[in-house]
Amino acid sequence: MSQTSSTLERLHNILTSLGLTEADAVLETHLERAAREECAYADFLVDLLTCEVTTRQERHLRNRLRQARLPFVKTLEQFDFAFQPTIEERQIRELRTLRFVHDASNVVFLGPPGVGKTHLAVGLVVAAIREGFSAAFITVHDLVSDLGKAAREGKLNQRLRAYVTPKVLAIDEMGSLPLDEVGAPLFFQRVSARYERGSILLTSNKSYSDWGAVFGEPVIAPAVLDRLLHHSATVNIRGKSYRLKERRKAGLLSPLEKRDPVVS
Ligand code: ADP
Ligand code: MG
Repeated sequence: MSQTSSTLERLHNILTSLGLTEADAVLETHLERAAREECAYADFLVDLLTCEVTTRQERHLRNRLRQARLPFVKTLEQFDFAFQPTIEERQIRELRTLRFVHDASNVVFLGPPGVGKTHLAVGLVVAAIREGFSAAFITVHDLVSDLGKAAREGKLNQRLRAYVTPKVLAIDEMGSLPLDEVGAPLFFQRVSARYERGSILLTSNKSYSDWGAVFGEPVIAPAVLDRLLHHSATVNIRGKSYRLKERRKAGLLSPLEKRDPVVS
């Protein structure tokens, strides 16, 4: 394939005006390779446009991962199931199929600190985003303070929408702080609004029987549980903290932490 410099310039202008910036950037390299390998015209075009499409998809994925506001990006493949034998790997593999997202059902991860609840929730969010679903991640504390602020500013309905739109909403650290009389109903509203419409991934270090104390209100906890658990899977983790394992390996444990953690 040969081309004059003015043809090349026109080609660059066309690609730029079409917004095909990646194809524009790799044009010369691809033209040279096509000439060298005596490539068919159609193959040249497929290669060039594939570069554009791949770059766009990667950018899109990066943007959506950023928008999801994950505390860290980790995948289910990075999870060491051998370390946490109370987790049934088969159950996580089933969740990985994302059938629960299609069904708008929920997943609750229960267990003491450091056992991988957030990691597994993040892993499922990353998998869902890769499959093209919209997703968001927030701690209960941030959710309630965000909605409380919106309520005070008279913008509650507008803000609530942000938590209904994503197909997957991960709510982390349920129960690490008790909810007050403003927070508990706001949390309940969130769960209700998503009921059978979008999935919630919830993590908590409190067992269901302790949720009454988290909500402080005897009526709200059963109402939340009722809706949350109607269509749901629970992953109950009873094991040792991975964080402590990492610190133990690095020789960073305090004398108190050196005692084996209580396995509940
Ligand atoms: P939790 O939310 O239960 O308190 P995290 O999910 O935040 O715990 O886990 C603490 C840290 O340990 C994270 O960096 C996480 O990636 C890592 N981690 C926990 N469990 C495992 C595991 N089984 N395999 C690999 N990394 C793990
Ligand atoms: Mg956590």
